[in-house]
Amino acid sequence: MRLLGRLPGVGERTAQRLAFFLLRAPRDYVTALGGSISELQERVHPCARCGNYTEEEACAICTDERRDAGVVCVVGTVQDLMAIERTGRFPGRYHVLGALLAPLDGVGPEDLPIPALLERIGDGVREVVVATPPTVEGEATALYLAQALKGSNRTACVRVTRIASGVQYGGDLEYADQVTLGRALDGRREIE
Ligand SMILES: [Zn+2]
Repeated sequence: MRLLGRLPGVGERTAQRLAFFLLRAPRDYVTALGGSISELQERVHPCARCGNYTEEEACAICTDERRDAGVVCVVGTVQDLMAIERTGRFPGRYHVLGALLAPLDGVGPEDLPIPALLERIGDGVREVVVATPPTVEGEATALYLAQALKGSNRTACVRVTRIASGVQYGGDLEYADQVTLGRALDGRREIE
């Protein structure tokens, strides 16, 4: 029960409910659940190209030939990637940073996978859509990325855009509704 209570969003009472449910559940189900939880970290890992979670070397989005490889959307987390996927409005591929610039917390540019991004962008990418959240860290990361892309010879001609401010300032992409996030994506503008 103590371990269940450490799961995000699970308080003491929910942990108790889950524990009682598991005590009464069929043995097969409990064994299968335990097995898939313990295998999770072995089977699922970040995509070698974009950082999305996958069980293969490259994720389903990177290997989908129907997706436009000319547009790359940069997000902070895999949850944000999923939020954008749910809008059904983004035809391109992704690059997951895994962190945002936060100088006060000791997260600097060297902690973000920016060299890997610059490396990718050289090959036929026309536009980079920066979809970091509308927070101090998200905005700082967007500006830093725009400068890094414009400052590199290989990527100087690439359009760097930022999702529109339809998403409330300080808000979380993950919790923005699909329509709002879809509009923010459609209304993206070039970063000056
Ligand atoms: Zn991928």
